[in-house]
Amino acid sequence: ANQLMAGKRGLIMGLANDKSIAWGIAKALADAGAELAFSYQGEALKKRVGPLAEKLGSAIVLECDVAEEASIDALFDGLKQHWDSLDFVVHAIGFSDKNELRGRYVDTSRANFTMSMDISVYSFTAVMQRAEKMMNAGGSAVTLTYYGAERVMPHYNVMGVAKAALEASVRYMAEDLGKDGIRVNAISAGPIKTLAASGIGDFRYIMKWNEYNSPLRRNVTIDDVGKSALYLLSDLGSGVTGEVMHVDAGYHVVGMKAVDAPDM
Ligand code: NAD
Repeated sequence: ANQLMAGKRGLIMGLANDKSIAWGIAKALADAGAELAFSYQGEALKKRVGPLAEKLGSAIVLECDVAEEASIDALFDGLKQHWDSLDFVVHAIGFSDKNELRGRYVDTSRANFTMSMDISVYSFTAVMQRAEKMMNAGGSAVTLTYYGAERVMPHYNVMGVAKAALEASVRYMAEDLGKDGIRVNAISAGPIKTLAASGIGDFRYIMKWNEYNSPLRRNVTIDDVGKSALYLLSDLGSGVTGEVMHVDAGYHVVGMKAVDAPDM
């Protein structure tokens, strides 16, 4: 283990279970000496998040539903009872009605469009409004995005539109908070089998396609994402802000099916 995060305290949002991208990131940060606090969505997840937090030596586990302003306020009020400052934030939260993560984008309902944008995009901005007040120069935040923001991917639909907006919000917040020495970046992760991903149509096919056609000829793991998050959240990333970093085995550079990829 390294000590890249020694003396640093951070909030991890979006842990659901040990398959979550947030878990891969939390492990990498804890390994590097960070002190962690976790938020969870709703009582049902508390049973899962509590023991995972404990494994990484964290006793700070707070509820937060990012759809509610009061719940985000309560999270930060709770956090302030433990810590007077915050060095980093991990936002690994996204949501859309899975009935609209298949079929055509053009059929997206107004209600689900609004909800997907609210939970998957605005929540990061709302969190950073509060986090900023506890952060000093050297602070850093990371959110999670996907290539469906840049190119049309099957079934990703309204989430692609939401991730495009999330990536734009990363650039605007990088400018706003950069004056105070706070960095804001996104990791564009390749497909990983998680709870959230299981809602996406034909996800198994998408994983296979990425495995056969990405330059590294494999899918990425939550540990791959964790190591890149460690870079962005530690002093190693000190000159990097407003960036969307692809951690996708290189898939985003590919223009066509690989010659050695099997027919599917
Ligand atoms: P996950 O299901 O493990 O995590 C999603 C988290 O979002 C859960 O912890 C859930 O509780 C939380 N969440 C949803 N609605 C919420 C709300 N209203 N309030 C608070 N929390 C809420 O799945 P994951 O794949 O680890 O997802 C993490 C992030 O990574 C998401 O933004 C997702 O879009 C992104 N991402 C995932 C992949 C992938 O293939 N799995 C690829 C690229 C990006």
